[in-house]
Amino acid sequence: PEFNSDWELAKAKVGKWDMDIYGGSGRYERVREYITGGGDPDKVLAALENAGLLGMGGAGGRAYLKWGDVMRAEGTTGEKFIVCNADESEPGTFKDREILLAAPYLTIEGMILAALVVGATRGWIYVRHEYPEQIEKCREEIARAVKLGACGRNMFGSSRSFELDVFPSPGGYICGEQTALIEAMEDKRAEPRNRPPELMTNGLYDQPTLLSNVETFAWAPAILKDGGDWFASQGIKEGPLTAGASPAMKGKRLFSISGDLNQPGVYEVPTGTTLGELIDKHCGGMKDGKSIAAVALSGPSGGLLPPQIPVQFLSRRFVEANVPEGVTHIDIRDLPLDINVSRAVGYMLGAGIVVYGSGCNVLAEAVANSRFYRNETCGKCVPCRIGSEKVTEMGERLLAGDVTREEFDTFEPIALGLSGVMQATSICGLGQVASNPLQTFLKFFPDLARQACRNKTSEVAKS
Ligand code: SF4
Repeated sequence: PEFNSDWELAKAKVGKWDMDIYGGSGRYERVREYITGGGDPDKVLAALENAGLLGMGGAGGRAYLKWGDVMRAEGTTGEKFIVCNADESEPGTFKDREILLAAPYLTIEGMILAALVVGATRGWIYVRHEYPEQIEKCREEIARAVKLGACGRNMFGSSRSFELDVFPSPGGYICGEQTALIEAMEDKRAEPRNRPPELMTNGLYDQPTLLSNVETFAWAPAILKDGGDWFASQGIKEGPLTAGASPAMKGKRLFSISGDLNQPGVYEVPTGTTLGELIDKHCGGMKDGKSIAAVALSGPSGGLLPPQIPVQFLSRRFVEANVPEGVTHIDIRDLPLDINVSRAVGYMLGAGIVVYGSGCNVLAEAVANSRFYRNETCGKCVPCRIGSEKVTEMGERLLAGDVTREEFDTFEPIALGLSGVMQATSICGLGQVASNPLQTFLKFFPDLARQACRNKTSEVAKS
């Protein structure tokens, strides 16, 4: 079908997702049920626990634990806050953009439900400033929710109130880091805070704050409508595939997937779907019949994985349960898309997947990703500020053919050592992942790395 705008296209797509329980009609029924039914926060927490809903912003914490922590927290002023992190800035990640464009009422209903459960009276959707359409849609939907009595003062005729607004992010990748975001909302420079204390007890204005991702809030209405067991029944089942993994992540989730594909986009799939299934069934296969050269399973933050992963880099428990004797590599297409399995197996999985087809310069992509983190560091801590510059410089030298074979023998250990220091000592996630593009290139593409320095060696030998 023809679509006249991004909104029409997104609406058609989102309307088919299980997440969108309303489709074309109805709004805020779960809020109405909660308020008119007397409101039992423990029932909501139990539904989220049964669902196994995890935070969809990257860290993957259990939603019911976070909601429960804020519910029990006692601030100094009696105020509690709800903040939705819609500062979606990770390259390759664009799922929240679709939700807020086509179905902001799901995220808003999730935020209102969270406010009722934890006892918050104010909330903000913190939206990336490059998302003007989403900002507009959120503002329109908040006004509609107030008109319907689901938000604002005396919700559905009760004594409960929740004021919701939009806060456009001031910009910059680091402004989406959860504590830097809170600093920005307090009108300070957006630099990450040291933790603990956590936001659940000492968040916005030092008061208990529940901060979650757009998608995490957006799943809450569907889970409360159809039950946690319904949600959990759709996702990965315990079995060999989950060997070594916590089975907590169940149900469905959204992936944004792009690169050399026939139909890149945002897809709602059950957890445990393999990368191959996502590419073939949903994305229409690889573009121009290309093969996979590399995959970023977590935007640039997880680095680059090769098409065939040596089993020595996968966890022993996973290999024992899934890999036949004598097999030395597993096909990246067979990797299950599940955050807990990914942790057990040893790769990072986010919501943004980038598939690089044959013919791409994998080293150039790794260097481009390193430059991204170097450019976006806030500079607060030394390991990240200096380390991201050094890692980028090393990648650029390799890309320029400026590293000799002899130097390469020490180049790799230095790069891996630097990476280890950055991961162990940086304050926030940016510094902890900034070296991953170069580190994974050296680890998974050793032949390409050696090829990159070969020419220079022969020139040196000739001279
Ligand atoms: Fe800033 Fe990097 Fe330190 Fe994070 S790790 S606080 S981005 S300097």
